[in-house]
Amino acid sequence: MELWQQMIRDSVHTVDQLVEKFGLERQVAQDLDEFFQARINPYYLSLIRYPGDPIWLQCVPDKKELEDYDAEEDPLLEDAMSPVPNITHRYPDRALFLVTSQCGLYCRFCTRKRKVGNYKKISMRGLESAFKYLEEHTEIRDVILSGGDPLMLTDAMLEKILQRLRQIQHIEIIRLGTKMPCVLPHRITPKLCNMLKKYHPIYCNTHFNHPWEITPESSKACEMLADAGIPIGNQMVVMKGVNDDPEVVKELVQKLLKIRVRPYYMYMADETKGANHFRTSVETGLKIIEALRGYTSGLAVPHFVIDAPGGGGKIPLLPNYVLYHDEEKIIMRNYQHKLFTYKNYADRNNINGYGPDSRKNGKNGNGKSKKSETNKEKTPIQILQEL
Ligand code: SF4
Repeated sequence: MELWQQMIRDSVHTVDQLVEKFGLERQVAQDLDEFFQARINPYYLSLIRYPGDPIWLQCVPDKKELEDYDAEEDPLLEDAMSPVPNITHRYPDRALFLVTSQCGLYCRFCTRKRKVGNYKKISMRGLESAFKYLEEHTEIRDVILSGGDPLMLTDAMLEKILQRLRQIQHIEIIRLGTKMPCVLPHRITPKLCNMLKKYHPIYCNTHFNHPWEITPESSKACEMLADAGIPIGNQMVVMKGVNDDPEVVKELVQKLLKIRVRPYYMYMADETKGANHFRTSVETGLKIIEALRGYTSGLAVPHFVIDAPGGGGKIPLLPNYVLYHDEEKIIMRNYQHKLFTYKNYADRNNINGYGPDSRKNGKNGNGKSKKSETNKEKTPIQILQEL
């Protein structure tokens, strides 16, 4: 048994342990165990500094999980977009392939609780029909292995899946959606990295939410994956009490870059049953992005998105930088709230409703209107006042 497997075996997971270690009432611990079991491996447990801290909140069951009975189990409608077991096909050229129900840690905010924990929730018997679906759908260029956590599979099992995927000509990219570099970095071994290298291009999406998760162990794991030629992106979720603070997120994204992980997405928390106590306002998320853009490297600024309830996919959100936009100009403010004007370029063709046809809009022969020429002399504030 490898070290990471021993750590899974030694995880806190029983009702007795929840009562003894975290002081939960026995009945509450039992109800939580039935709703969504606990798994806190010794590594992640060691990151807790005090009760209720950002690490504790992410992994220790809380009775608030039992309070939102009305919320959806599958707010993103992943199951409705599942043409065959184990596959979710939401976007045109990519598909999600669920390969295990197991994870190195059961995150209390998980949006896929209905699929995670119990071995029966994702059946390995569905793999064959999933491969067949991927073979038949030649539009799929990009497959994301997820679950659960695909790195809960043994190297041998994972390699069988990768080999099979690499036999499908139209699949160009394979992505691993794994939280292991963060929650159980011991899983990233030289043997695993050597195996993965054979199946490039492989990308990894991981999931750090707080700077305390960046430790010597998790740094080493990310660097090993990067050395194996695997680009790593981070997907974090804004959560109350965990990271709903611009300074915390700034520290996180800067530390991620140092360990060669690119901040990729920052999500608003999903409206998932048992996880609504983690939700924060959209304004909190916008404030975080506002505090990053311009104040730190653009490499460190993730796309801020809401994964739309009802299966609409990821929709990007930005603080309001555009104050005015017409066919001649766009007036914007920068991160310091200074105003700037950018002259629009009049395209000859009106493409998709953007960019007017200049010949029909009173332009001069040189493509500029008299109005835009007048505006050249004015400051952005004068222009705004005239609008
Ligand atoms: S690792 Fe991912 S799938 Fe597993 S419990 Fe955490 S959030 Fe859910």
